[in-house]
Amino acid sequence: VRGPSALDVQEVSAFYGTSQALFDVSLLVPATGGLAVLGRNGAGKTTLMKTIAGEMKAATGRMFLGKSEITALPTEQRIRSGIGYVPQEGAVFAKLSVRENLKVGSLMKPKSDAMDRVMAMFPKLGTRLDQQAGTLSGGERKMLAVGRALLGEPRLLILDEPTEGVWIGVIEELADRLGELSKTMALIIVEQHLDLALRVATHALVMARGRVVLEGGAGEIGSHPELLRYLAP
Ligand code: ATP
Repeated sequence: VRGPSALDVQEVSAFYGTSQALFDVSLLVPATGGLAVLGRNGAGKTTLMKTIAGEMKAATGRMFLGKSEITALPTEQRIRSGIGYVPQEGAVFAKLSVRENLKVGSLMKPKSDAMDRVMAMFPKLGTRLDQQAGTLSGGERKMLAVGRALLGEPRLLILDEPTEGVWIGVIEELADRLGELSKTMALIIVEQHLDLALRVATHALVMARGRVVLEGGAGEIGSHPELLRYLAP
């Protein structure tokens, strides 16, 4: 990563009870371009995202968002200091309408043109503002979750498997939008589909058994001779 980084994670470890899930993980997220986090099921990707978002406690190590240390901050304060987190489950309020879901996202910073930008990015959401979020398709629900996170105007957007459960015909569109987004802001994308991850992000790291085993430019990682060894089931 060249230039100032948006997020600096230094030797973070984390546990579920006595079982260690992260071992001295370090990473830098570039201010623009995006970082893809790869690895097979159980490698620790979601645990790492939760630790960055503050849903899990780091047992060791330090984390900096820009110049501010966030290691000890609770989730809510991390969100307020600029982390937008879209968890794997998507996290939309199923009973609320699309519009109401988006309102929740913009509560903290109501004055901005962020809403226009989200509508331009995902025009489908604009046509479904009064629909109950629980009745959206998988892809629409992911768009809503991303849109809602963007309305908080984050400095860093964390996307945990944004294409999971999304119909193949919509994945391309979603990936294109995320690729455009990563050109202008800091973003981490956890993604099982290698080609897609490398289209969205300029940097990549691979995890295995709670450790970072490969990292570098997206092209370099995509053609790394060891890559398949770490991704194959
Ligand atoms: P996936 O792609 O399947 O989500 P992942 O790379 O995100 O995989 P994690 O979900 O972070 O992996 O899991 C990392 C390790 O931590 C696994 O060994 C998993 O079994 C363990 N783990 C995850 N959640 C818990 C939990 N709530 N309690 C105990 N162990 C957990």
